[in-house]
Amino acid sequence: MTVLELRDVHRVHGSGETAVHALRGITLAVEPGELVAVMGPSGSGKSTLLNLAGGLDRPSQGSVHVDGVDLSGLGRRALATVRRQRVGYVFQDLNLLASLTAAENVALPLELDGVAARKARALAASALSEVDLDGYASRFPDEMSGGQQQRVAIARALIGKRRLILADEPTGALDSQTGEAVLRLIRSKVDDGAAGVLVTHDARHAAWADRVVFLRDGVVVDTAGPLDQPDELLAPGGAR
Ligand code: ADP
Ligand code: MG
Repeated sequence: MTVLELRDVHRVHGSGETAVHALRGITLAVEPGELVAVMGPSGSGKSTLLNLAGGLDRPSQGSVHVDGVDLSGLGRRALATVRRQRVGYVFQDLNLLASLTAAENVALPLELDGVAARKARALAASALSEVDLDGYASRFPDEMSGGQQQRVAIARALIGKRRLILADEPTGALDSQTGEAVLRLIRSKVDDGAAGVLVTHDARHAAWADRVVFLRDGVVVDTAGPLDQPDELLAPGGAR
């Protein structure tokens, strides 16, 4: 079943003279096992699209469906449950809770879903290990570097059986090696059957996707199949 479907989605931010028509009729479907990259200039509507896909924002017109459920039919509580159980969201800003340790931050979505604390902590520990943060479980965010914090946020987004992975320039604060590890992680989650949407301005990152959608002024202006394989692009002399 299609995991994410946007049907003729419009989003107007604000109203009156200052209204911004951020999205103007976006139609997009993302299937299980598919990673779609979204590229486009600053202000073209990429983050707005991702927020709508994750149920963090509602369209002004059109509809957003996750696992066949029309999000516009859901109240706040039901929407929060969908977000927590099905959507893994890697934000541009990290949104780690400062008063929680790395492991507690990662375990939080599971605990909110009623997973027993001990089990949630064990899953969090292995998720931290997947992003190379063994030994950091009891550190607080302000005791970690920006790149480490970002990896905690990614572990939190990927924990549990998320059907939809949404990432908004997830490698922003990371060095290129760690950034690549994060993309590899997203790719493997998608290969395991999730659907993914990756906003990026870097063609090397978009090369991890099966399909690239180009946005400009809130409309899709072009789509492309997979870009050159990442291995080719990352190999010495392989960059374009
Ligand atoms: P991108 O992520 O591609 O840079 P955004 O989706 O953040 O683009 O923004 C698209 C347009 O909508 C921009 O013109 C931006 O200024 C505007 N916009 C985004 N969020 C808001 C908001 N909350 N209120 C008003 N305008 C907004
Ligand atoms: Mg953005």
